[in-house]
Amino acid sequence: MNQTTLFARVEGLFDVGVLGDAHVLVVGCGSGGGNVALQLVMSGIKHLTLVDKDILEPENVIRHVCGAQFLGRPKVDAVAEVLLDRNPSAEVTKLDLDVVRDARTALLVQEADVVVLATDNEPSRWLINELCVRTKTPSCVARVFTRGIGGEVFAYRPGNGGCLACLEGFLQRTTFRSGIREVDLLNEDERQKLYGLGVEEIKDSPGLNIDIAFVTAFHTRFVLDSIARLLPERPKYLSEIPENYLVWGNRPVAPFDRNFQLQRITLTPQAGCKICGMAESNDAI
Ligand SMILES: [Zn+2]
Repeated sequence: MNQTTLFARVEGLFDVGVLGDAHVLVVGCGSGGGNVALQLVMSGIKHLTLVDKDILEPENVIRHVCGAQFLGRPKVDAVAEVLLDRNPSAEVTKLDLDVVRDARTALLVQEADVVVLATDNEPSRWLINELCVRTKTPSCVARVFTRGIGGEVFAYRPGNGGCLACLEGFLQRTTFRSGIREVDLLNEDERQKLYGLGVEEIKDSPGLNIDIAFVTAFHTRFVLDSIARLLPERPKYLSEIPENYLVWGNRPVAPFDRNFQLQRITLTPQAGCKICGMAESNDAI
């Protein structure tokens, strides 16, 4: 099986050869990051660096691209094996490390063409955002809302739109995302109050894979768009996505009022953003 045979069905849709040269750093190989990485190699992306510090646990299996045969193995190893099974010509680097504590993180971001941010904790998101702004590296981040009611996808496009910190500042001044805070942002008392459910029940119910799949599909599209923006010529059939922030509702649970609801926003840099505002003033010096 050669490369031509492998991509015969998608060659007409994407310029597989052109896209394939991009180097994508995937930070977080859970149900979101693992799925995006798989979609990317199936779209012809060949150079990926996978970063995660966790091993595959039994509770992951029902939503993860890696099944029970990978239990107990580092997620980076398991995901790499699945990617290479789909595309043996992919070049996958695996790094079993904690991005917040490891000194290599800054260099990894700097060397990437595009960063896929798919971690489940705030410190790593803030750090990666700051590094992407500092090194002008595009990034795409997605989150699935509690119980899989929907999710959001955001693209940081250096020099064109706000950063992740701008987005957080923007959301705090709106009621746009009220009621869809994430489990990991809340302490246990808050969770009890907000949802009236036991903490364990909430932790164990972040949605089905079909709920996550919608969000990872948007996330992958944003990554392909970010790669296409770096190319001298836009690949055929990969038209530009003008908005940099999407909120997706899977079902009619507040704040959504119907199934399959999509909101699109173009987020501009926010005045007073401590991250990209600082980068601009550094540029000026
Ligand atoms: Zn900003």
